[in-house]
Amino acid sequence: MHHYERLQKKLDQPPVGAPESEEFLEILKLLFLEDEVELALHLDFQLKKLGDIAAQAGVSAEEALEKLEAMANRGSLLAKKVEGEYAYALLPNYPGLFEYPVMKGMDEAKGKRLAELWHAYYMKYMAAELAAAKPPWLRVFPSEQALEEGEEEVEILPYEKASEMMGKAQSIALAKCPFRIVGQNCEKPLQVCLSFDGAARFLIEREMAREISLQQANKILDEAEDAGLVHAGSNNMQNLLFLCNCCPCCCHFMKLLTEHGYDQGIATSSYRAQTDDEKCTGCGICAEERCPVKAIEMVSDKARIDHKRCIGCGLCVTTCPDDALQMVKREDYQPPPANVKVLAEEVVTHKKLKQ
Ligand code: SF4
Ligand code: SF4
Repeated sequence: MHHYERLQKKLDQPPVGAPESEEFLEILKLLFLEDEVELALHLDFQLKKLGDIAAQAGVSAEEALEKLEAMANRGSLLAKKVEGEYAYALLPNYPGLFEYPVMKGMDEAKGKRLAELWHAYYMKYMAAELAAAKPPWLRVFPSEQALEEGEEEVEILPYEKASEMMGKAQSIALAKCPFRIVGQNCEKPLQVCLSFDGAARFLIEREMAREISLQQANKILDEAEDAGLVHAGSNNMQNLLFLCNCCPCCCHFMKLLTEHGYDQGIATSSYRAQTDDEKCTGCGICAEERCPVKAIEMVSDKARIDHKRCIGCGLCVTTCPDDALQMVKREDYQPPPANVKVLAEEVVTHKKLKQ
């Protein structure tokens, strides 16, 4: 078996998966050079120290370091210092092989080909693979402004507030949204992709993102809301890994809902929108301009919300000119797993049960 095929098999492991396909093999050929791929086969998803990798591969530490650094700098591998020594790990497809090389940037022809390949691969295989994750990888964070606007007092738990979750991070990184760079289906803002702590430090160190303050991150969230983008972060209670600001036309996770019919491809927030018929004047802004998942339709000049479709983003609430919308608690809400590790374990267990 060729080295690239062996690498594909290594990457096709739960929890995320990387199904075999011609497109994915070509993606790997763009992300790993021929003289690097053999070394990458000695890595796993857990960090492994440089000395151990070199010994296993039977090459000098200098040779291993040069190749591993080249791959990490390109966003094809994860790198982190462990006890003063560099350690490396394979990256899953999301977040990792799809996003990081695009954040880093590459020459135009290669970037164009990579975008075509990811699009084809996502349509054929990865959309179903991502949708198979139970619980979903991402959850929606409601607009905090929307939560404050209602007449009813709503209890907001700390993990439900993006600003509070971001406030716990030691490092925050800002990058361009790789989904919009690849998708090119809209002109929504690009500089809105936030990562935290370990992921943030890796992206900053490898020049895929820049460090920003909490104040700047909160400003990004406000601008994203104005532009009609949905906040969606890792679906766990403690320590956010990332916080995306998603459009329904480019984001591979939002498209599960908007194009592929996987209604539960992203976890909703713990809220849903509710209308007040007395106040609604039938302007149609919420249905036509704001709701990213088409959960609102106008019936006899009144906004009607499909509560099953509503993801609880709050984007409709903040622009209703007549205060006819508010957020209310969702009755059937299931809180997210405690942390990313538990989330991944639950996804693996669910996938095994389905086999
Ligand atoms: S934006 Fe407000 S007033 Fe306009 S249709 Fe929607 S709920 Fe009614
Ligand atoms: S109705 Fe649409 S815009 Fe309003 S909260 Fe639900 S999903 Fe968001």
